[in-house]
Amino acid sequence: MIQTLNTTKPIEEILNKKPLIISGPCSAETEEQVIATATRLAATGKVDILRAGIWKPRTRPGSFEGIGTKGLPWLQRAKRETGLPVTVEVATAKQVEDALHFDVDVLWIGARSTVNPFSIQEMADALRGVDVPVLIKNPINPDLELWTGAVERIAKAGIKKIGLIHRGFSSYGNAEYRNAPMWHLAIEMKRRNPELIFINDPSHICGRRDILMETAQKAINLDYDGLMIESHIDPDNAWSDAKQQVTPERLAEMLESMIWRHEAPESEDSLSRLEKMRQQISHLDDELMQILGQRMKIADEIGSFKKENNITILQTTRWNEILSTAFAKGDMLGLSQEFITRYFDAVHMESINHQNKVMDGEG
Ligand code: PEP
Ligand code: MN
Repeated sequence: MIQTLNTTKPIEEILNKKPLIISGPCSAETEEQVIATATRLAATGKVDILRAGIWKPRTRPGSFEGIGTKGLPWLQRAKRETGLPVTVEVATAKQVEDALHFDVDVLWIGARSTVNPFSIQEMADALRGVDVPVLIKNPINPDLELWTGAVERIAKAGIKKIGLIHRGFSSYGNAEYRNAPMWHLAIEMKRRNPELIFINDPSHICGRRDILMETAQKAINLDYDGLMIESHIDPDNAWSDAKQQVTPERLAEMLESMIWRHEAPESEDSLSRLEKMRQQISHLDDELMQILGQRMKIADEIGSFKKENNITILQTTRWNEILSTAFAKGDMLGLSQEFITRYFDAVHMESINHQNKVMDGEG
């Protein structure tokens, strides 16, 4: 069944859909490929926005660098024939102008542009006075300030609808992922910007098909608003990112077999059960904080004692004893060694900081 023509809906409304599914080829290659991909994606009834790279920022020269402006009318035709709104990556002011001239509905900024405040500012200036949604990919390096800076520059230009795309971070020698997801950074960015749409791009995280679905599922479990997944009518022969693309039908199968989680449970009854458990957790967290506070007060006292008696702060033997007792106890309580190590490291560092303050202080 062909889905209803989406372009009848305002783009803001489409962007607010959860889960929002954006799919299409890494690159627009030929008019036939764009139309065929769009038609087959629309036929699944599961895709909200068609993506296609027109200008491709390739890390190394010599590979396909995108079809350029001549591909934009193909997207216009794809939109006309399928009703799917379209999104392309822009990296310069000229590309912003060209994309808008050909009625591109949503712009996205790629990871290699987010790292560069000059590029972002140039695009922000070209966007002044324009009402088009902009999705901003994380920078290739794990730096939330650069990502935030890009959001701020685009927002300052007056763009109201901004989204974030988590596409992973490049790291040397990572064999499992093309771009390490570093979920904790994405979660922190989401925490800082709860009002922005948050989309996961498992294609560029994985760089391969076999772990695409489990990565997408992880994102959905973490309450992302949507997914951007590359699809191609003949993935193995794609002109860019061949290893990570899937056919529109495979994409539909994947989306069909995923578990879609809700942020809040559906019934009142389960909501109040969840609420009770959350209260218990908050209560325990509060107690833990009180106890940690008391523990640090004792650390201060120990600091004064060590200062008076000229004893070193770090006492390795004592610390190893604490850790091995904790491992044994943790094991009984169902706490992993990894957690115990991280927890005690954090507590120990805080304790040392307290003692250092006492040592450096007067008296
Ligand atoms: C892309 O989406 O095809 C792309 C180039 O992505 P990224 O900027 O994440 O590398
Ligand atoms: Mn790609």
